[in-house]
This record gives sequence, C-alpha cells and structure tokens, in this order.
Amino acid sequence: MDGIGTAISAEENRHCEKAVTNAKNTGVNMERMIEVKNVTKKYGAFTALDNLSLSVKKGEIFGFLGHNGAGKTTTTNILTTLLEPTSGSATVAGFDIITQSIDVRRNIGYVPENVQLYDTLTAYENLEFFARLSEITDPKTAIDETLAFLQATSFAHMKIGELSKGMRQRIGLAQAIIHKPPVLFLDEPSAGLDPTGIRQLRDIILRLNKEEGTTIFMNTHLLVEVAKTCTAIGVLNHGKLIYTDTLANTLKRFQNEDSLEQIYFSIDSDSNEK
Ligand code: ATP
Repeated sequence: MDGIGTAISAEENRHCEKAVTNAKNTGVNMERMIEVKNVTKKYGAFTALDNLSLSVKKGEIFGFLGHNGAGKTTTTNILTTLLEPTSGSATVAGFDIITQSIDVRRNIGYVPENVQLYDTLTAYENLEFFARLSEITDPKTAIDETLAFLQATSFAHMKIGELSKGMRQRIGLAQAIIHKPPVLFLDEPSAGLDPTGIRQLRDIILRLNKEEGTTIFMNTHLLVEVAKTCTAIGVLNHGKLIYTDTLANTLKRFQNEDSLEQIYFSIDSDSNEK
C-alpha cells in the first residue's frame, strides 16, 4: 500500500488554505489544478512520455485517451508522485510533484486500475485502516458518510475477497475519496464493470464533481463514457500529446463526425500519418 488517497480529512481545510497560499507564493494558477510542463519519462532507452505539457482546470472532468501503451498510466503515476519524470515539471493542486510530493498526496485520491485492498479484512476494516493511517480524527463518521455517498453501506461488513469486481472497485473509490481530496485520479475506472456498474460509476463521478467540486483526471478507453461525463479531453499517442480541448469545442470542431469514437479515430489517424 502506498498511502495515496489516504490523506488527512480533519485537516482538509488547512491543506486547502495551504494550497491556496502556496499557489499565491509560487505564482501557480489555482484555476489549473493540474499543470504539466515538458515532462519526459524514459524507461532505459525507451521514451514513454515525450515532452508532455497539458493543463486541467479546477472542476473539470478530464478524459485522458490513447492507445494501449501510449503512456497514460505513466503520466498518472508521475502526477500521483509514484514515479519521477526524467525531466520536466508538474504541479497538482498548486504543489510541485517532486519538491512538495507529500502535499500533493494530501490533496489527491487515486484509484489505480487494480485496486489494492486487504482481501481478508472487511470493506469497513480496510477503510478504518486507511482512515487511521491518514490520521482522520473521526474515522467512523468519515467512513459512514463515504459509504453512504457511494451507496456501498450494504456490503460494508463483507470481506473484500467476497466482493464482486464492481463492489470492490466502489471500496477502492471510498478509500480514495474518504479525505475529500480536491483532485481525483482514476485509471481505467470502468474496466471489467458490467453496464449497471458502468452507469453507477458514471453517476458517482458526476456527483463527486458536482457536489464536492472534485477535479477528475481519468484514463479511459470507453469513449461513450467520455462523451457522457468528461468536460475536456486529451489524446496521447506514443507518449506525445496530439490533442487537447474542451469536449464542447471538440464536438464543434469535428461537427461532421458522428460520434466521439469517430473524432478519436480522426485525431489519431492524422497523427499516425505525420
Ligand atoms: P494501457 O492503455 O495499455 O494501460 P498506457 O497508455 O497506460 O497503456 P503505460 O502503461 O504508461 O501506457 O506504458 C507506456 C509505455 O511504457 C509502454 O510501451 C510500456 O511498455 C512502457 N513501460 C511502462 N512501464 C514500464 C517500465 N516500468 N519499464 C519499462 N517500460 C515500461
């Protein structure tokens, strides 16, 4: 367990104030909750990310698209401080991912593609464990409220090993949002979910964004879901950002395409032809 997404709920306001003060001091624009500047990541001789720059505004639901191996997870791992870039810089919630990594972690939640939980503990016990690690002052209230928000109270006392993929993923989400982070990262959140699970997840993402004001950065291949949830998109191709804009502008710009899927193929094939 890496502690990502297990920050300090009781001190949330203090952190938010610190984020704002920090932003003022460093001149970081807090309207941009995520700012990536010229990030390159090399694995040995292989360049996974090539001079990537992008920004995500506060309150946005950003869909990060790209073929398998494009570099989406690498980007997320860098922004969540799990991995250092080879060069370049980035801020999340106004904090530098390298020099202020602890502050970044306090201000984010992360649901990786394969949610890491203790199978032999119940959902509630897992959340209690994370809440304690995060020094949440009133873990019971935080857990109860989070489970209620996610409509997961009914399976709170089942062991993780006994949960379906969808239920398990909901507890992973609970772990990531229990401290009400201003920024939430999701890596392929719909992977393996049935249509009902996908719809429930969509509702949760939209409610988190609307009710809590959470900025969401989501790696995904499900373009239908992107069309229904995202306010902006970015397209990565072999480690390079080949497109980014709001969803509304994108739909306007590609008026002749029938669907976001067609738009995606049009953007991607243009890039491959270059
Ligand atoms: P997917 O959609 O399949 O999850 P992705 O867009 O998330 O793909 P990444 O997982 O970021 O892509 O991988 C980008 C590239 O970097 C791939 O070619 C991958 O093989 C390579 N890569 C990722 N992690 C490592 C590593 N630890 N060592 C070497 N190469 C790696």
